[in-house]
Order: sequence, then C-alpha cells, then structure tokens
Amino acid sequence: MTFDAVLVARVAQLQQVLGEGPGAVGIAAPQIGLLQRLIIIDCRQSIRPCRNHGRLVMINPEITAREGERVGREGCLSVPDWVGMVPRAVDISVRYQDELGETHEMHAHGFEARVIQHEVDHLEGILFIDRVVSRRDLARRLSRGA
Ligand SMILES: [Zn+2]
Repeated sequence: MTFDAVLVARVAQLQQVLGEGPGAVGIAAPQIGLLQRLIIIDCRQSIRPCRNHGRLVMINPEITAREGERVGREGCLSVPDWVGMVPRAVDISVRYQDELGETHEMHAHGFEARVIQHEVDHLEGILFIDRVVSRRDLARRLSRGA
C-alpha cells in the first residue's frame, strides 16, 4: 500500500458510500470494488448509542487479540435485504495504519468490536451470512437502516 494522494482519494470515495447507507457504521474497500486492505468504521452512526472511538480509517487492519464471545444481530451494505445473528469476540485489539502510514494499536469493545470484525472479514471475502449461527437465523430486513 502506498500512502499517497490516490489512497486519500479512495478513502474519500469509501467514506461517501458509507455516508449514503442510512445508519451504516462501517464499510470495506472490496465492497466498492477496491482491492485494498482499507476499512472505515464510524459507530457514531449507530441507531443504538454505544461506546466508540468515532471515525476510524484503518489500513491493513489486523486483529491481534480476541476475548469473549457474544451473538448479535448484523446486517451489511452488500447483503441489503437480510440480517442475521452472528457470534463475535466481545473485546479485541487491532493494529492498523492510518492514512499517513502511521501504525496504531487500539482496543474495541462490544458493538464497535463487532463492526471491526465484520469489516475485516470483508477483506478476506467473508460475509456475515457465512458466519451466522444457523441459516434459520437469517431474517428479511423489515426496514432499511436497521
Ligand atoms: Zn458488510
């Protein structure tokens, strides 16, 4: 990954698509056809308020520690008509680089940790529907933005 103006433009492009999804809290570059290890998380957009770090641009994110497990409801911009119950670690540590190439390590908890795990999965081509507890737990989304 080159940390240059092209990357900054791609972050802006990804941010724009994220902003168009009502209530969307995260997006990964492969979702808009960019084959880069880039995700944006912003849990301030969550319908239910949760502890979070605001907007995070994560390049080459790597989950270095996982603790606990909880099943929770997930949806996805790439699977717009469905939601499902997915088990995720409750607490995680993530190492990533920002747009300037500087390395950070942070800890995330609960919903924010779930969103990061969901977006990192996109970088591996994994969708939440691949991780649902049971296919029977998939449900039609009743309203957009849930
Ligand atoms: Zn998704």
